[in-house]
Amino acid sequence: MSFISLGLSPSLLKALSSQNYTYPYPIQEQAIPAILSGKDVLGIAKTGSGKTASFVLPILMNQQRTVASKNRHVNVLVLVPTRELAAQVSEVFHLFASYLTERIKILAIYGGVSINPQMMDLQGVNILVATPGRLLELVESNAVKLSEIQTLVLDEADKMLNLGFKAEMDRIFALLPKKRQNLLFSATLSDDVNNINQILLHDPLVIKTEVETNNIDLINQLAYFVADEKKGPLLRYLIKNNNLKQVLVFTSSVYKADNVAIKLFRNGIEATAIHSDKSQKARTDALKNFKSGKLQVLVTTDLLARGIDIEFLPCVINYELPRSPKDYIHRIGRTGRAESSGEAISFVSPEERQHFKVIQKKMGKVVTMIDSEGLDLKGY
Ligand code: AMP
Repeated sequence: MSFISLGLSPSLLKALSSQNYTYPYPIQEQAIPAILSGKDVLGIAKTGSGKTASFVLPILMNQQRTVASKNRHVNVLVLVPTRELAAQVSEVFHLFASYLTERIKILAIYGGVSINPQMMDLQGVNILVATPGRLLELVESNAVKLSEIQTLVLDEADKMLNLGFKAEMDRIFALLPKKRQNLLFSATLSDDVNNINQILLHDPLVIKTEVETNNIDLINQLAYFVADEKKGPLLRYLIKNNNLKQVLVFTSSVYKADNVAIKLFRNGIEATAIHSDKSQKARTDALKNFKSGKLQVLVTTDLLARGIDIEFLPCVINYELPRSPKDYIHRIGRTGRAESSGEAISFVSPEERQHFKVIQKKMGKVVTMIDSEGLDLKGY
Protein backbone atom coordinates (compact mmCIF):
# COMPACT_ATOMS: atom_id res chain seq x y z
CA MET A 1 0.00 0.00 0.00
CA SER A 2 1.15 3.57 -0.66
CA PHE A 3 0.24 6.88 0.96
CA ILE A 4 -1.39 7.98 -2.33
CA SER A 5 -4.40 5.72 -1.80
CA LEU A 6 -5.10 7.14 1.68
CA GLY A 7 -6.59 10.41 0.43
CA LEU A 8 -3.82 12.83 1.45
CA SER A 9 -3.16 16.06 -0.48
CA PRO A 10 -0.24 16.38 -2.96
CA SER A 11 1.59 18.73 -0.57
CA LEU A 12 1.42 16.18 2.24
CA LEU A 13 2.53 13.43 -0.15
CA LYS A 14 5.51 15.58 -1.02
CA ALA A 15 6.22 16.09 2.68
CA LEU A 16 6.09 12.35 3.26
CA SER A 17 8.54 11.57 0.52
CA SER A 18 10.93 14.32 1.68
CA GLN A 19 10.82 12.75 5.15
CA ASN A 20 11.53 9.31 3.67
CA TYR A 21 8.18 7.90 4.71
CA THR A 22 7.94 5.55 1.74
CA TYR A 23 4.91 3.52 2.75
CA PRO A 24 2.33 3.84 5.51
CA TYR A 25 2.74 1.82 8.69
CA PRO A 26 -0.26 -0.40 9.59
CA ILE A 27 -1.79 2.04 12.07
CA GLN A 28 -1.54 4.80 9.46
CA GLU A 29 -3.19 2.67 6.77
CA GLN A 30 -6.28 2.32 8.89
CA ALA A 31 -6.39 5.51 10.93
CA ILE A 32 -5.77 8.09 8.18
CA PRO A 33 -8.87 7.38 6.01
CA ALA A 34 -11.07 6.97 9.11
CA ILE A 35 -9.95 10.29 10.64
CA LEU A 36 -10.32 12.05 7.29
CA SER A 37 -13.92 10.88 7.14
CA GLY A 38 -14.63 12.25 10.62
CA LYS A 39 -14.88 8.93 12.46
CA ASP A 40 -13.89 8.35 16.07
CA VAL A 41 -10.83 6.13 16.39
CA LEU A 42 -9.38 4.03 19.16
CA GLY A 43 -5.85 3.09 18.14
CA ILE A 44 -3.92 0.54 20.10
CA ALA A 45 -0.52 0.47 18.54
CA LYS A 46 2.88 -0.41 19.79
CA THR A 47 5.15 2.37 20.76
CA GLY A 48 7.27 3.48 17.79
CA SER A 49 4.65 2.24 15.35
CA GLY A 50 4.03 5.67 13.81
CA LYS A 51 0.88 6.56 15.70
CA THR A 52 1.73 10.27 15.83
CA ALA A 53 1.71 10.65 12.05
CA SER A 54 -1.46 8.57 11.92
CA PHE A 55 -3.37 11.44 13.52
CA VAL A 56 -1.15 14.40 12.55
CA LEU A 57 -1.54 13.89 8.78
CA PRO A 58 -5.34 13.59 8.58
CA ILE A 59 -5.84 16.36 11.15
CA LEU A 60 -3.70 18.70 9.04
CA MET A 61 -5.70 17.65 5.96
CA ASN A 62 -8.97 18.38 7.72
CA GLN A 63 -7.64 21.73 8.96
CA GLN A 64 -6.73 22.73 5.41
CA ARG A 65 -10.45 22.63 4.67
CA THR A 66 -11.53 24.42 7.88
CA VAL A 67 -11.74 28.13 8.54
CA ALA A 68 -9.24 29.49 11.02
CA SER A 69 -10.39 29.63 14.60
CA LYS A 70 -11.40 32.97 16.11
CA ASN A 71 -11.45 34.68 19.49
CA ARG A 72 -9.20 32.24 21.27
CA HIS A 73 -11.20 29.22 20.18
CA VAL A 74 -9.18 26.26 18.96
CA ASN A 75 -10.31 23.60 16.49
CA VAL A 76 -8.20 20.66 17.55
CA LEU A 77 -7.04 19.77 21.04
CA VAL A 78 -4.33 17.16 21.55
CA LEU A 79 -3.80 16.17 25.18
CA VAL A 80 -0.60 14.46 26.29
CA PRO A 81 0.73 13.47 29.71
CA THR A 82 4.17 15.11 29.70
CA ARG A 83 5.77 18.37 28.61
CA GLU A 84 8.33 16.53 26.55
CA LEU A 85 5.63 14.68 24.65
CA ALA A 86 3.74 17.95 24.06
CA ALA A 87 6.88 19.44 22.50
CA GLN A 88 7.52 16.32 20.43
CA VAL A 89 3.98 15.98 19.08
CA SER A 90 3.80 19.66 18.17
CA GLU A 91 7.13 19.33 16.35
CA VAL A 92 5.62 16.60 14.14
CA PHE A 93 2.62 18.88 13.43
CA HIS A 94 4.96 21.78 12.59
CA LEU A 95 7.13 19.62 10.38
CA PHE A 96 4.29 18.44 8.15
CA ALA A 97 2.44 21.78 8.27
CA SER A 98 5.54 23.49 6.88
CA TYR A 99 4.85 21.80 3.52
CA LEU A 100 1.33 23.24 3.24
CA THR A 101 0.40 26.45 1.49
CA GLU A 102 -2.43 27.15 3.96
CA ARG A 103 -1.32 28.67 7.25
CA ILE A 104 -2.22 26.35 10.08
CA LYS A 105 -1.25 27.62 13.50
CA ILE A 106 -0.04 25.00 15.94
CA LEU A 107 0.87 25.71 19.54
CA ALA A 108 2.22 23.59 22.37
CA ILE A 109 1.42 24.66 25.92
CA TYR A 110 2.76 23.03 29.07
CA GLY A 111 3.82 23.92 32.58
CA GLY A 112 7.25 24.65 33.96
CA VAL A 113 7.78 27.60 31.64
CA SER A 114 6.41 31.14 31.71
CA ILE A 115 2.66 31.33 30.99
CA ASN A 116 2.63 34.84 29.48
CA PRO A 117 4.09 34.06 26.05
CA GLN A 118 1.64 31.17 25.79
CA MET A 119 -1.27 33.50 26.58
CA MET A 120 -0.19 35.91 23.85
CA ASP A 121 0.34 33.12 21.35
CA LEU A 122 -3.12 31.66 21.82
CA GLN A 123 -4.74 33.92 19.25
CA GLY A 124 -5.92 32.14 16.07
CA VAL A 125 -4.63 28.69 16.98
CA ASN A 126 -5.94 25.79 14.89
CA ILE A 127 -4.24 22.96 16.71
CA LEU A 128 -3.36 23.08 20.39
CA VAL A 129 -1.13 20.43 21.96
CA ALA A 130 -1.35 20.61 25.74
CA THR A 131 -0.75 19.03 29.09
CA PRO A 132 -3.93 19.18 31.22
CA GLY A 133 -2.72 21.36 34.13
CA ARG A 134 -1.42 24.28 32.04
CA LEU A 135 -4.43 24.04 29.73
CA LEU A 136 -6.78 24.57 32.68
CA GLU A 137 -4.72 27.51 33.94
CA LEU A 138 -5.04 29.14 30.54
CA VAL A 139 -8.77 28.39 30.38
CA GLU A 140 -9.21 30.04 33.78
CA SER A 141 -7.49 33.19 32.57
CA ASN A 142 -9.74 33.22 29.49
CA ALA A 143 -6.73 32.83 27.22
CA VAL A 144 -8.28 29.86 25.42
CA LYS A 145 -11.78 28.53 24.78
CA LEU A 146 -12.61 24.91 24.22
CA SER A 147 -16.31 25.05 23.37
CA GLU A 148 -15.75 24.78 19.61
CA ILE A 149 -13.29 21.91 19.57
CA GLN A 150 -13.94 19.77 16.50
CA THR A 151 -11.41 17.04 17.25
CA LEU A 152 -10.04 15.82 20.53
CA VAL A 153 -6.95 13.60 20.60
CA LEU A 154 -5.75 11.76 23.69
CA ASP A 155 -2.24 10.52 23.13
CA GLU A 156 -1.05 7.90 25.62
CA ALA A 157 -4.77 7.63 26.38
CA ASP A 158 -4.47 5.11 29.18
CA LYS A 159 -2.22 7.48 31.09
CA MET A 160 -4.52 10.43 30.40
CA LEU A 161 -7.54 8.53 31.63
CA ASN A 162 -6.09 7.02 34.77
CA LEU A 163 -6.53 8.29 38.26
CA GLY A 164 -3.63 10.75 38.29
CA PHE A 165 -5.25 12.95 35.65
CA LYS A 166 -8.90 12.22 36.46
CA ALA A 167 -9.85 15.47 38.22
CA GLU A 168 -8.23 17.60 35.51
CA MET A 169 -9.64 15.53 32.65
CA ASP A 170 -13.17 15.70 34.07
CA ARG A 171 -12.92 19.49 34.14
CA ILE A 172 -11.64 19.57 30.57
CA PHE A 173 -14.34 17.19 29.27
CA ALA A 174 -17.00 19.46 30.80
CA LEU A 175 -15.70 22.36 28.67
CA LEU A 176 -15.82 20.51 25.35
CA PRO A 177 -18.78 20.48 22.98
CA LYS A 178 -20.75 17.22 22.96
CA LYS A 179 -20.47 16.82 19.23
CA ARG A 180 -16.86 16.28 18.29
CA GLN A 181 -14.47 13.74 16.84
CA ASN A 182 -12.58 11.72 19.46
CA LEU A 183 -9.28 10.04 18.75
CA LEU A 184 -7.63 7.90 21.42
CA PHE A 185 -4.19 6.42 20.99
CA SER A 186 -2.34 4.21 23.36
CA ALA A 187 0.31 1.53 23.37
CA THR A 188 -1.39 -0.23 26.25
CA LEU A 189 -4.98 -0.30 27.34
CA SER A 190 -6.30 -1.22 30.75
CA ASP A 191 -9.81 -2.46 31.52
CA ASP A 192 -10.58 0.81 33.30
CA VAL A 193 -9.76 2.76 30.23
CA ASN A 194 -11.71 0.39 28.07
CA ASN A 195 -14.82 1.30 30.04
CA ILE A 196 -14.14 5.00 29.74
CA ASN A 197 -13.56 4.61 26.02
CA GLN A 198 -17.04 3.23 25.68
CA ILE A 199 -18.44 6.41 27.19
CA LEU A 200 -16.13 8.74 25.31
CA LEU A 201 -16.14 7.30 21.84
CA HIS A 202 -18.99 7.20 19.37
CA ASP A 203 -19.06 4.10 17.15
CA PRO A 204 -15.27 4.15 16.86
CA LEU A 205 -13.03 2.37 14.44
CA VAL A 206 -10.97 0.18 16.75
CA ILE A 207 -7.48 -0.43 15.40
CA LYS A 208 -5.24 -2.94 17.06
CA THR A 209 -2.15 -3.26 14.97
CA GLU A 210 -0.61 -6.09 16.93
CA VAL A 211 -1.17 -8.01 20.09
CA GLU A 212 0.52 -6.02 22.82
CA THR A 213 2.91 -8.77 23.83
CA ASN A 214 4.26 -9.26 20.30
CA ASN A 215 5.12 -5.62 20.01
CA ILE A 216 8.55 -6.01 21.46
CA ASP A 217 10.01 -8.48 19.02
CA LEU A 218 12.44 -5.96 17.62
CA ILE A 219 13.97 -5.44 21.04
CA ASN A 220 16.70 -7.76 22.19
CA GLN A 221 16.12 -8.15 25.92
CA LEU A 222 18.71 -9.18 28.45
CA ALA A 223 18.88 -9.11 32.25
CA TYR A 224 21.67 -9.26 34.81
CA PHE A 225 21.31 -10.67 38.28
CA VAL A 226 23.20 -8.13 40.35
CA ALA A 227 23.38 -7.03 43.96
CA ASP A 228 22.13 -3.49 44.56
CA GLU A 229 25.55 -2.15 45.49
CA LYS A 230 27.07 -3.57 42.29
CA LYS A 231 24.57 -1.89 39.94
CA GLY A 232 26.72 1.24 39.58
CA PRO A 233 29.91 -0.65 38.61
CA LEU A 234 27.91 -2.95 36.29
CA LEU A 235 26.41 0.06 34.51
CA ARG A 236 29.83 1.64 33.97
CA TYR A 237 31.29 -1.72 32.92
CA LEU A 238 28.62 -2.21 30.25
CA ILE A 239 28.87 1.34 28.94
CA LYS A 240 32.67 1.30 28.75
CA ASN A 241 33.24 -2.28 27.59
CA ASN A 242 30.52 -2.24 24.96
CA ASN A 243 31.38 1.30 23.96
CA LEU A 244 27.71 2.29 24.28
CA LYS A 245 27.22 5.67 22.68
CA GLN A 246 23.60 6.55 23.47
CA VAL A 247 22.04 4.99 26.52
CA LEU A 248 18.77 5.79 28.26
CA VAL A 249 18.84 4.65 31.90
CA PHE A 250 15.68 4.34 34.00
CA THR A 251 15.63 4.53 37.79
CA SER A 252 12.66 4.42 40.11
CA SER A 253 13.22 7.71 41.92
CA VAL A 254 14.39 11.24 41.33
CA TYR A 255 17.07 10.81 43.99
CA LYS A 256 18.44 7.69 42.36
CA ALA A 257 18.43 9.26 38.89
CA ASP A 258 20.59 12.14 40.17
CA ASN A 259 22.84 9.77 42.04
CA VAL A 260 23.45 7.47 39.07
CA ALA A 261 24.16 10.41 36.76
CA ILE A 262 26.62 12.00 39.20
CA LYS A 263 28.54 8.76 39.60
CA LEU A 264 28.72 8.20 35.85
CA PHE A 265 29.98 11.74 35.42
CA ARG A 266 32.64 11.25 38.09
CA ASN A 267 33.80 8.18 36.21
CA GLY A 268 34.33 10.08 33.02
CA ILE A 269 31.04 9.24 31.30
CA GLU A 270 28.95 12.16 29.95
CA ALA A 271 25.65 11.80 31.79
CA THR A 272 22.75 14.01 32.88
CA ALA A 273 19.61 13.23 34.84
CA ILE A 274 16.19 14.56 33.96
CA HIS A 275 13.11 14.21 36.09
CA SER A 276 10.21 16.17 37.54
CA ASP A 277 12.40 18.16 39.97
CA LYS A 278 14.51 19.68 37.18
CA SER A 279 13.64 22.97 35.53
CA GLN A 280 11.91 22.73 32.19
CA LYS A 281 14.89 24.35 30.52
CA ALA A 282 17.23 21.70 31.95
CA ARG A 283 14.81 18.96 30.82
CA THR A 284 14.49 20.35 27.32
CA ASP A 285 18.24 20.95 26.89
CA ALA A 286 19.23 17.51 28.16
CA LEU A 287 16.71 15.72 25.95
CA LYS A 288 17.81 17.76 22.94
CA ASN A 289 21.47 16.98 23.54
CA PHE A 290 20.68 13.32 24.06
CA LYS A 291 18.55 13.09 20.91
CA SER A 292 21.28 14.74 18.84
CA GLY A 293 23.92 12.34 20.16
CA LYS A 294 25.89 14.99 22.10
CA LEU A 295 25.04 13.48 25.46
CA GLN A 296 26.08 9.86 25.96
CA VAL A 297 23.84 8.83 28.85
CA LEU A 298 20.49 10.21 29.95
CA VAL A 299 19.27 9.00 33.32
CA THR A 300 15.58 9.42 34.00
CA THR A 301 12.49 8.24 35.85
CA ASP A 302 9.25 7.04 34.27
CA LEU A 303 8.77 10.65 33.18
CA LEU A 304 10.34 9.68 29.88
CA ALA A 305 8.92 6.15 29.70
CA ARG A 306 6.09 7.05 27.39
CA GLY A 307 5.84 8.27 23.87
CA ILE A 308 9.24 9.93 23.63
CA ASP A 309 10.75 9.19 20.24
CA ILE A 310 14.53 9.03 20.05
CA GLU A 311 15.51 8.03 16.56
CA PHE A 312 17.42 4.75 16.44
CA LEU A 313 18.04 4.74 20.19
CA PRO A 314 20.22 1.64 20.51
CA CYS A 315 20.00 0.89 24.22
CA VAL A 316 17.73 1.21 27.24
CA ILE A 317 18.86 0.11 30.70
CA ASN A 318 16.53 -0.50 33.62
CA TYR A 319 18.80 0.29 36.55
CA GLU A 320 15.82 -0.49 38.71
CA LEU A 321 12.67 -2.25 37.56
CA PRO A 322 9.44 -0.28 37.27
CA ARG A 323 6.62 -1.30 39.56
CA SER A 324 4.16 -1.96 36.77
CA PRO A 325 4.86 -4.51 34.00
CA LYS A 326 3.15 -2.10 31.63
CA ASP A 327 5.72 0.57 32.41
CA TYR A 328 8.43 -1.98 31.65
CA ILE A 329 6.99 -2.32 28.14
CA HIS A 330 6.77 1.47 27.74
CA ARG A 331 10.33 1.93 28.95
CA ILE A 332 11.94 -0.66 26.70
CA GLY A 333 9.77 0.62 23.86
CA ARG A 334 11.98 3.74 23.69
CA THR A 335 14.31 1.52 21.69
CA GLY A 336 13.35 -0.73 18.76
CA ARG A 337 11.32 2.07 17.21
CA ALA A 338 10.21 2.69 13.63
CA GLU A 339 11.15 -0.84 12.60
CA SER A 340 14.76 -0.60 13.78
CA SER A 341 16.18 -2.94 16.41
CA GLY A 342 17.37 -2.14 19.91
CA GLU A 343 18.67 -3.55 23.14
CA ALA A 344 16.99 -3.43 26.56
CA ILE A 345 19.02 -4.47 29.58
CA SER A 346 17.54 -4.87 33.06
CA PHE A 347 19.41 -4.99 36.35
CA VAL A 348 17.67 -7.40 38.70
CA SER A 349 18.65 -7.40 42.37
CA PRO A 350 17.81 -10.36 44.63
CA GLU A 351 14.78 -8.40 45.94
CA GLU A 352 13.57 -7.79 42.40
CA ARG A 353 13.80 -11.39 41.12
CA GLN A 354 10.24 -12.33 41.90
CA HIS A 355 8.95 -9.11 40.40
CA PHE A 356 10.94 -9.69 37.22
CA LYS A 357 9.26 -13.09 36.88
CA VAL A 358 5.89 -11.34 37.03
CA ILE A 359 7.00 -8.84 34.37
CA GLN A 360 8.12 -11.64 32.05
CA LYS A 361 4.88 -13.51 32.58
CA LYS A 362 2.77 -10.44 31.82
CA MET A 363 4.87 -9.73 28.74
CA GLY A 364 4.66 -13.35 27.58
CA LYS A 365 8.40 -13.50 26.98
CA VAL A 366 11.30 -15.10 28.76
CA VAL A 367 14.34 -12.86 29.07
CA THR A 368 17.87 -14.29 29.01
CA MET A 369 19.47 -13.88 32.44
CA ILE A 370 23.19 -13.41 33.09
CA ASP A 371 24.76 -13.66 36.53
CA SER A 372 26.99 -10.62 37.05
CA GLU A 373 29.10 -12.61 39.52
CA GLY A 374 30.97 -13.90 36.47
CA LEU A 375 32.04 -10.39 35.45
CA ASP A 376 35.13 -8.65 36.72
CA LEU A 377 33.69 -5.33 37.90
CA LYS A 378 36.79 -4.26 39.80
CA GLY A 379 37.87 -0.75 38.90
CA TYR A 380 34.47 0.28 37.51
P1 AMP B 1 5.71 7.33 16.74
O1 AMP B 1 5.22 5.95 17.08
O2 AMP B 1 4.61 8.20 16.24
O3 AMP B 1 6.46 7.97 17.88
O4 AMP B 1 6.74 7.21 15.50
C1 AMP B 1 7.94 6.53 15.60
C2 AMP B 1 8.93 6.93 14.53
O5 AMP B 1 8.56 6.38 13.27
C3 AMP B 1 9.12 8.41 14.31
O6 AMP B 1 10.50 8.70 14.31
C4 AMP B 1 8.53 8.67 12.93
O7 AMP B 1 9.20 9.71 12.26
C5 AMP B 1 8.73 7.35 12.24
N1 AMP B 1 7.69 7.04 11.21
C6 AMP B 1 6.36 7.11 11.41
N2 AMP B 1 5.69 6.69 10.32
C7 AMP B 1 6.62 6.37 9.39
C8 AMP B 1 6.56 5.85 8.06
N3 AMP B 1 5.40 5.60 7.44
N4 AMP B 1 7.74 5.62 7.40
C9 AMP B 1 8.92 5.86 8.03
N5 AMP B 1 9.05 6.33 9.29
C10 AMP B 1 7.91 6.59 9.98
